Amino acid sequence: GDLEQAIALYQQAAAEAALLPPEELASVWSNLALALFKQGSAAESVAAADKCIAAKPEWHKAHYRRGDALFYLRRYTEARDSYARAQELAADDREVAAALALTAEAVQGGVWFRQLLPGREFAVQASSPMEELIFGAARQMQNHIYLVGCATTRECYVVDGCWDTDGIAGFARRNKMRLVGAIGTHYHFDHCGGEVPPQMAAMVSGPFGGKPTLPGLREMKRDHNTTVHIHAREVERIAKQCDLELAEISPLEQGARLPLGEAGEIEVLHTPGHSGGSVCLCVRPSGGPSGGAPLCLLSGDTIFPGSCGRLDLPDSDVDLMFESLAQLRDLPDELKVYPGHAYGGASTTIGREKQAGLLRPISKEDFLRMFAR
Ligand SMILES: [Zn+2]
Repeated sequence: GDLEQAIALYQQAAAEAALLPPEELASVWSNLALALFKQGSAAESVAAADKCIAAKPEWHKAHYRRGDALFYLRRYTEARDSYARAQELAADDREVAAALALTAEAVQGGVWFRQLLPGREFAVQASSPMEELIFGAARQMQNHIYLVGCATTRECYVVDGCWDTDGIAGFARRNKMRLVGAIGTHYHFDHCGGEVPPQMAAMVSGPFGGKPTLPGLREMKRDHNTTVHIHAREVERIAKQCDLELAEISPLEQGARLPLGEAGEIEVLHTPGHSGGSVCLCVRPSGGPSGGAPLCLLSGDTIFPGSCGRLDLPDSDVDLMFESLAQLRDLPDELKVYPGHAYGGASTTIGREKQAGLLRPISKEDFLRMFAR
């Protein structure tokens, strides 16, 4: 295609190098390095960047291109040296600074984690009036979306990735991460996308009417090539809601573990109550000085700071929520808890919820009374 044609042209120009002034030659090698990188030929891209550096050693872009290709090849310490050289030559370049920070993370390794909020990292700039309504609804509902992965392999899962799947994938790409899986904490449309229930339809379709659907698990699977995971109890429901084949969905069960590259794993805790298949995701690093103590808990709509998810919905169950909260009480006090919405704050801890939230000792009678309809 166009890329191959461009590469051939640059290669030809580079072959006639003797005829070109160094300035022009450097830009030919730089363009070739970029085109080869885009094509996925990272090793060849490094070689082209080396020629570029030879032609114009003080040009920050040459070192930046070399860094990008080395990063892709997971040669992180060499990438860091190239980006550092680029920064010496262009101290104000924000792209270079960002790449250097990501490379420091990659050199260090471990679990890679980001909390995203609509209007901040995604659902920022709509490309159509319909999308503007959807993004507005996302900002109003304050759905947190999470990316959890491995800083070394640069592969990650997206948790509750919907509303703006392209925006989320773009955020991952800018962070030099590749989405490999999409996990829903429960089937609700504001966590998995798909068909919007009638009582919420006006919010995301406004004057456009019809039967609105949100991008979500389906788009993660079809457009961004991820696996799709939801608790076994909600697989059929999600297949219908998101128009996916049953075989395209991997059912999750209590205790299931999803690998995070070399960094650790996600352990699935089945915590029904808000919905029958609600899960909390416990992120556990592998070995290390902390001895594999969990890093954080993604609590979906099960726990919020000072409260729990709604229990007045048709398939919610107060008794089951009581049992699920009891299960979470056994986790370490210092464990950070990241909820599915920004209601009441961006995060809390198990200890804080045991003191002042719904993990405090409450008798079943009192709990049932609190949520009596
Ligand atoms: Zn929900």
